[in-house]
Amino acid sequence: MNITIRTRLTALYFVVLAASFSVFVWISDVGFRRSIEVTVNDASSMNLQSLQRLIERSAARGDTKVQKELAELASWWPSGALFEVADESQNWIFRSPQFLQAGVQLPKVGDGPATFFTTNLNHIQYRIALQRFQTAGKTYELHAAVPTEPFDRALDNFRDIERETVPLLVVLASLLGYWLSGKSLAPVTLIIETAERIGVDNLSQRLEVPRARDELRRLTEALNAMLGRIDNSFKRITQFTADASHDLRTPVAVIRTLAEVTLRRPRSEQQYADALAKILRTSEETTSLLDNLLTLARADAGATGMELHLIDLGIPVRKGKERALQLAANKSLDISLRTPGRPVWVRADSIAIDRLLLILLDNAIKYTPEGGFCEIELLAEAEQAQIVVRDSGIGIAEHELALIFERSYRSDRARSRDTGGAGLGLSIARWITVMHGGTITAESRPGAGSVFRVTLAVAQGVPVDFPKQIPVELTI
Ligand code: ADP
Repeated sequence: MNITIRTRLTALYFVVLAASFSVFVWISDVGFRRSIEVTVNDASSMNLQSLQRLIERSAARGDTKVQKELAELASWWPSGALFEVADESQNWIFRSPQFLQAGVQLPKVGDGPATFFTTNLNHIQYRIALQRFQTAGKTYELHAAVPTEPFDRALDNFRDIERETVPLLVVLASLLGYWLSGKSLAPVTLIIETAERIGVDNLSQRLEVPRARDELRRLTEALNAMLGRIDNSFKRITQFTADASHDLRTPVAVIRTLAEVTLRRPRSEQQYADALAKILRTSEETTSLLDNLLTLARADAGATGMELHLIDLGIPVRKGKERALQLAANKSLDISLRTPGRPVWVRADSIAIDRLLLILLDNAIKYTPEGGFCEIELLAEAEQAQIVVRDSGIGIAEHELALIFERSYRSDRARSRDTGGAGLGLSIARWITVMHGGTITAESRPGAGSVFRVTLAVAQGVPVDFPKQIPVELTI
């Protein structure tokens, strides 16, 4: 079931308001009843005191005088207030007619402060104050009653008002809550609507940032930043796909044209052999390009396909030198290797390290003119090993150094040559290094050559006689 935040908030308001108002009603009811009790107790106590003062004044002149004075008092006593007075033998000196008619049995009165009692006299409720009182050597028992009905009526009126207004207030406040939550969630609706409109065709569109500096603004900014990153990756992927298709189309076109031109008329055996050799070379380049594209696609999918073993870095660098000599077979380049003369143990995937070296050496040979040099050096410290590939080639401009590890990046100088590849090599080299927890850097000056430095962690705790049993590499 889909319940919107707005509906949930309103339901919550409703429950909270209904509970708060119920507690409020209950507290006011209890307070109201307490204050009625105090008021009627005070009123009947004051009547008791008036009676006492009257009896004190006339007791000395005998009960008849007291009786007369009491009767007079009863005639102008505030409406509804009643009293009765008995002597110590429980003979009535004076009784208001309602007391007489009701014939109610009141509780026994002890000495001490007034006690209070509530009862009906002729169907009307009264609060009665009872007290024993002594004056002029005589004891009197006084009962002064005050009707509670006006107070009860006020309480009933109060309850009626509460019954009529409280539910209305709860409903009105909940409706207000509904409106308010709708208003505060309006930017969310806007975000949803805009987000729904954004697709691959308009990834550069952004969500409107609300003016208020609140969570919704942060959410919008975070979503916009995310859209920015997706947009960039998407552009890079699109660019990469376009470059890859272009780079693949070129060698295929070369092979096709070469075959067509060769087949146009009969050729000598040598001419066929030359054409086939060219076709073979171009096919090999295409295979290597496809390999690179496949590697990067796998890298993007998070599949490294690498297995780290304990290997001596001396082995791949020596292998690298052999490959470099083959690659530079038709070029007069001075290719040299320097190693520390002892094994340098690292945890690495030997195939990946071979490939990394090949990329660096292939570039060094490609971008170094005849007569130059290419030097491979393996350096080892206690914790770090470095493979350095130096050349005396065309070099790289400073502003391009940061870009050469990006996918498909090729400098203009490289583009203008027919030796350049698809600009994928160094991005694969960086990926391989990162997968080994290492770093790769480049230093260069145009015209003065380049230095590529790969740093890897040296494997610790390898026994000195380790290479004796394991000539090439060991799985541990
Ligand atoms: P490419 O296939 O074009 O060589 P890479 O990713 O291997 O692609 O290299 C990216 C760019 O870096 C090259 O196009 C080139 O401009 C520059 N580059 C790489 N290595 C060297 C080097 N040793 N000397 C000069 N430029 C280099």
